[in-house]
Amino acid sequence: MTEIFKGSFTQQEPIPDAGIAAALRVMQSGRLHRYNTQGDEIAETALLEEEFADYTGAKYCLAVASGGYAMATALRAIGVKPGDKVLTNAFTLAPVPGAIASVGAQPVFVGVTEGLTIDLEDLAAKADQASVLMLSHMRGHLADMEALITLCEGKGITVIEDCAHTMGAAWKDVPSGRSGLIGCYSTQTYKHINSGEGGFLITDDAEVAARAIMLSGSYMLFERHRAAPPPEVFAQIKYETPNVSGRMDNLRAAILRPQLADLAAQCERWNARYRVMEDGLRDVPGLTIVERPEEERYVMSSFQFLLLDWSAQAVADVMARCLARGVELKWFGGAEPTGFTSRYDSWRYAASEPMPASDRVLAGIVDMRLPLTFSEDDCAMIARIIRAEVSAVYQTIAAE
Ligand SMILES: *Cc1c(COP(=O)(O)O)cnc(C)c1O
Repeated sequence: MTEIFKGSFTQQEPIPDAGIAAALRVMQSGRLHRYNTQGDEIAETALLEEEFADYTGAKYCLAVASGGYAMATALRAIGVKPGDKVLTNAFTLAPVPGAIASVGAQPVFVGVTEGLTIDLEDLAAKADQASVLMLSHMRGHLADMEALITLCEGKGITVIEDCAHTMGAAWKDVPSGRSGLIGCYSTQTYKHINSGEGGFLITDDAEVAARAIMLSGSYMLFERHRAAPPPEVFAQIKYETPNVSGRMDNLRAAILRPQLADLAAQCERWNARYRVMEDGLRDVPGLTIVERPEEERYVMSSFQFLLLDWSAQAVADVMARCLARGVELKWFGGAEPTGFTSRYDSWRYAASEPMPASDRVLAGIVDMRLPLTFSEDDCAMIARIIRAEVSAVYQTIAAE
């Protein structure tokens, strides 16, 4: 019997009941705006920031309207200006170069390794071109953060971390987002906690935090923040910093607080699914598993494998055969951006040099989501289907 998978790769779990109840309370109050508080009431948004600062160990946290907004705010807060260059990953998603372009700066793309992390050799080679690195922990794969920070410190490069896929992850027990000057996160539906849209920015730098808070649209109400520097830090900054509104609201914060409380347990559930996939796809000829370094504590809500040096036609055959059995794979090698996938050379607003070694890796990356609505048995079935279809296509290539 040919197994057909029936699940949806884009279906997340419902918002937990505690989040729904909290959301109803906010709606009943009518006070959705974070600065619309009564008496000594503390806004849900301010509480969420305090809890996220606590969760990551950061001194300061700002909740904002999206992950992309957090990244653009980080760039503005450290003074990136139009025309400046910003180093970033060639293997990432559109909001990353988009955040750089949104402040008028130019991305300088850095290559990707077979481990799906930023290529530190290529970073060293390009380090003299920019003084900021927007480091994307794409699809949850962490580079050697100690080596990366040492390299960047040596070159005077400020690191901003895009942790859209690494909320809850760590390198040698340093939470993702805590190695660079600023960490940015997304709470969009497809990430680790879900408020539809939303994001965070964390830092230990008081001045950066104050600028980010002013930028987000705090007017002169910054004293209602809790995970924020003291008022004296704002003394000068409040006159100098433009308002680029992108606040989070209390409704989203109310939905997120119970999810943040559950995050550690959810991360375990994601990783259990990931390991089932990993086990199911080992030792398939032609298929390369992305091995994880021991120093990395990952949170994998998606799965990637490589079909290295396969022709575009052969990869397309695998994708079509898997899709026919209900397994929706994404390919990063396609010349045209489709769905969520895109390549550095498809962002035509940002000039790029060809990177043959990275192109080879990108051409082999196959990607899928693993939402928590999938059971571990579902993941085992998905792995069996991929295994069978990759093997079938591989045999025809080998026979040619
Ligand atoms: C989702 C995502 C972001 C932020 O996205 P928003 O939709 O703006 O919250 C940033 N980087 C990566 C790699 C992402 O996937």
